[in-house]
Amino acid sequence: MKPRQHHVPNATPPHHICDGCGDFNNPYMLKNPVWRQIMPSKRGFLCLDCVAERLGRPLTLLDFTETPINRPIFVAYEMGLRDGRAA
Ligand SMILES: [Zn+2]
Repeated sequence: MKPRQHHVPNATPPHHICDGCGDFNNPYMLKNPVWRQIMPSKRGFLCLDCVAERLGRPLTLLDFTETPINRPIFVAYEMGLRDGRAA
């Protein structure tokens, strides 16, 4: 039992099911102009694969907002970039 409980309303969203392929996905936040391109209504959720498909290009870190929710994505991208380097 924990005496202190943090009240974080957005910590446990009901679900993040992709509207494109139906897969569960971790939450993330894209910058508004990017999101508007693929989701004009701004409602719903897409996995990153479906986002890239609708954009017609791969996502980059510049497409994501700087928010704690995106931290795992930033780390993953950084590691991926490092792995992909020849040197
Ligand atoms: Zn999807």
